[in-house]
Amino acid sequence: MRPLINIRHLERKSVPLQGELTAAELDLENLDELIHVSDSLNYDLEAEKVDQAILVQGRLSLMLECECARCLRPFQHELELPDWACHLPLDGPDRVDVVNDVVDLTPFIREDILLEFPQHPLCGTNCKGLPARKPGRVKQSSGASPSSEVSSPWSELNKLKF
Ligand SMILES: [Zn+2]
Repeated sequence: MRPLINIRHLERKSVPLQGELTAAELDLENLDELIHVSDSLNYDLEAEKVDQAILVQGRLSLMLECECARCLRPFQHELELPDWACHLPLDGPDRVDVVNDVVDLTPFIREDILLEFPQHPLCGTNCKGLPARKPGRVKQSSGASPSSEVSSPWSELNKLKF
């Protein structure tokens, strides 16, 4: 459910906004090979009118399904913005789009959530990465069969997933 603010309602008092935004509504699907958004974003916000602007403040949280950039292990990473704030002018050159008295907060939430995405997701700060391969054991371009005894990162990953 998109967080929509009716600016008429703000004339008298602040308006609470609570709900969930799906990955599809946020357009956060298939953005990154190592980061997937499988769950909805939770928002718990309050909007008020301050002078000729809307001020929105509150909490955003989103669970990310990541793959470690070093060892490929899947792990979860919770993005939490406990003091998110957004200032939306209703006047001037930067004024926000208002359609039928309604402002959609979705693009502003999306923008700030994207900035919080890990640039280089790691399962842990001390991740050692994949076990070093012993020289001489790895066959080069000899068409290793799927039943090969050599443990690859992908077979390790498959064991974790199934
Ligand atoms: Zn790792």
